[in-house]
Amino acid sequence: MSHTRFNALQTIENRFEPLPSELEGRPENIASYFGENVFGDESMKKYLPEKAYLSVKAAIQNHQKLNRELADVIAAGMKEWAQEKNCTHFAHWFQPLTGKTAEKHDSFFTMTHDGRVIEEFSGSALVQQEPDGSSFPSGGMRSTFEARGYTVWDPSSPAFIMEVGEGKTLCIPTIFVTYDGRAQDFKLPLLRSQNFLEKAAVPVCQLFDPKVTAVTATLGWEQEYFVIDEALFNARPDLMLAGRTLLGRAATKNQQLDDHYFGSIPERVYHFMRDLETECHKLGIPVRTRHNEVAPGQFEVAPVFEEINVAVDHNQLLMDIMERVARRHKLRVLLHEKPFAGINGSGKHNNWSMGANTGVNLLAPGDTPSRNLRFLTFFVNTIMAVYKHADILRASIAHAGNDHRLGANEAPPAIISVFIGQALTKLLSQIANGKKTDDAAVQRAIDLISKLPNLELDNTDRNRTSPFAFTGNKFEIRAVGSSQSCSGPMTVMNTMMGLQLLDFKKDVDKLMGKGTDKGEAILMVLKNYIRKLKPILFEGNNYSEEWREEAAQRGLSNHTNTPAALEVLHTKHAQDFYGKSGVLKKSELDAFLRVQLEAYNSRLDIEAKTLVELVNSSIMPAVLRYQTELADNIAALNNIGMDDSSNYQRDKLKRIVGHVSTIKSSLDKLEVAFTKAHDTDDLHREAHLLCDEVKPQMDIVREAVDALEGVVDDQYWPLVKYRELLFIR
Ligand code: ADP
Ligand code: MG
Repeated sequence: MSHTRFNALQTIENRFEPLPSELEGRPENIASYFGENVFGDESMKKYLPEKAYLSVKAAIQNHQKLNRELADVIAAGMKEWAQEKNCTHFAHWFQPLTGKTAEKHDSFFTMTHDGRVIEEFSGSALVQQEPDGSSFPSGGMRSTFEARGYTVWDPSSPAFIMEVGEGKTLCIPTIFVTYDGRAQDFKLPLLRSQNFLEKAAVPVCQLFDPKVTAVTATLGWEQEYFVIDEALFNARPDLMLAGRTLLGRAATKNQQLDDHYFGSIPERVYHFMRDLETECHKLGIPVRTRHNEVAPGQFEVAPVFEEINVAVDHNQLLMDIMERVARRHKLRVLLHEKPFAGINGSGKHNNWSMGANTGVNLLAPGDTPSRNLRFLTFFVNTIMAVYKHADILRASIAHAGNDHRLGANEAPPAIISVFIGQALTKLLSQIANGKKTDDAAVQRAIDLISKLPNLELDNTDRNRTSPFAFTGNKFEIRAVGSSQSCSGPMTVMNTMMGLQLLDFKKDVDKLMGKGTDKGEAILMVLKNYIRKLKPILFEGNNYSEEWREEAAQRGLSNHTNTPAALEVLHTKHAQDFYGKSGVLKKSELDAFLRVQLEAYNSRLDIEAKTLVELVNSSIMPAVLRYQTELADNIAALNNIGMDDSSNYQRDKLKRIVGHVSTIKSSLDKLEVAFTKAHDTDDLHREAHLLCDEVKPQMDIVREAVDALEGVVDDQYWPLVKYRELLFIR
């Protein structure tokens, strides 16, 4: 009898239901506590002298540095606010290249040189800290003798109070850099890309409206995740160590019935969600929608979109809070892209657009001809940008967990293509085929934009298989992994759009220099682009085998795994991409690549070791015990002359023996491949070996073990089964 598994099941049986929500009794009215733990505009107004408040606002808007005196004033105001809310500590909150968040806590309390105890938070403590960051991945940029990294305040993302139990900490969003200012995190490149995009986009906006002086990228993410009971989680070492099940036979009921999608949210999870939402709202994270996803035990949460830097921070925070809130409910959140084989994985759709300071969404079709030309400009340039830099976008979402989605036959594929819907496809082809740019037909086509059907409604549900879809007033990047930071892909989006808009402006200027009228010049350039970008547009089924073939003919890449997808980062294309935009210096790009490879390799390393240990120490003992039992039974029947009555047992025994020998030979091969991978000192080669030689053996082992799960006595089976993981709540 397997104690761990059955104890876990027993624990759940005994849970009181429903668990009380810690936040029961909160007012229903979200507005009354929304943002109460954020040092946002309102608190700044209240706790800062007016002059300081205005300077901060201006500094944030113009990306200017704040001087020392001002920093002191802001720190004092922040401290007062935080202490009124019972904060005892402050922390620089940052996003090292692990993709997670980190913070180093310091107490406000300090001792003066003459031994007095005071509470202090100076401008310099606000602006810069020196956390002992030597244990965060640096991709070799910090040698050990100068292992320190520095965190530097990012005033464009508001400070907030993190509540953990009774403890309250004032968290200051920061970037994480080396002593000479090179990026060690995901935030600095994102901020650089945002600046770069803005510089490129403003002049293009001014072609249409001279009043535009600022442009920001916007992001609305949709976070998918699984929820399971804590007891079951603890009884699965693979979930604990690798975040996904490395073994496990599909339950006889899976998601075939699709009865989970938008189904009623089970009560315990509902309590968790409510609690999570309240925590989010206190922190100013505008989460709005919640629903069940396709797979059993899978859910989604999405906010109202925000300025990109804040949206990314909010998603990072959310992932953090989710884990903590889930524990309060004796649940665990699984953020892994593919926790369970055979059912849908989890993604994180990134809805991306750009907004100008005049209040317009640059990717929203307008209702006048001039607005439509502006829309068309940003729309076509985005597609062109994706076409040129699809490989770099693909590399930005390369990640061991995400390989299980992108490579597999599930939304979306690893081939990057763009879906724009029927109406816009028709429009683009009308423009491309128009004979002269000032042709009345082209003009009519553009005028038609204002008469387009409701694209948002129309496009959103049309093609769920596309990795990159235009959904009416934004592009939806669907290939991002659920556990990943949005920063990587969003940095790439901003950068490629910035580069593209620079090219566009140059092309338009050239024509205008030759005396072409502005509107006509814009149209001519767009028309030329539309003719070129056709290969990236695809409206069909992205899962189909035909698409794979057609995409190859069109020259589109299909990198089905991380090591292959990361290859592009060694190329001149990538160096130019990041170098010309100033988003990553060569040394930063190299370090970034190293960190990604190290992360991939260590993930596979953990998975392989966990699998081997599980098989050797849990699965095989159970299987062998059952094997003996069957053999004993057959022998016993033989002894009393009933050999011919043991066919069932013999058959079963033969099957078990067969699987056991498959497992043995695959484990041997796995070990050889593993050693070979570890013996190379080239990180990228190691990644390829782990992917191409170790992983396939893991799959064979899994297949055999999963088959055994179907025949070995249920009482012996040591691992919590899929049906228990997915259907007990
Ligand atoms: P679906 O699940 O159908 O893809 P949702 O309504 O769940 O759609 O999500 C749409 C997301 O798009 C939301 O997060 C929303 O805030 C975001 N969004 C809407 N407009 C913009 C915009 N201009 N820029 C960025 N994101 C946006
Ligand atoms: Mg979506």
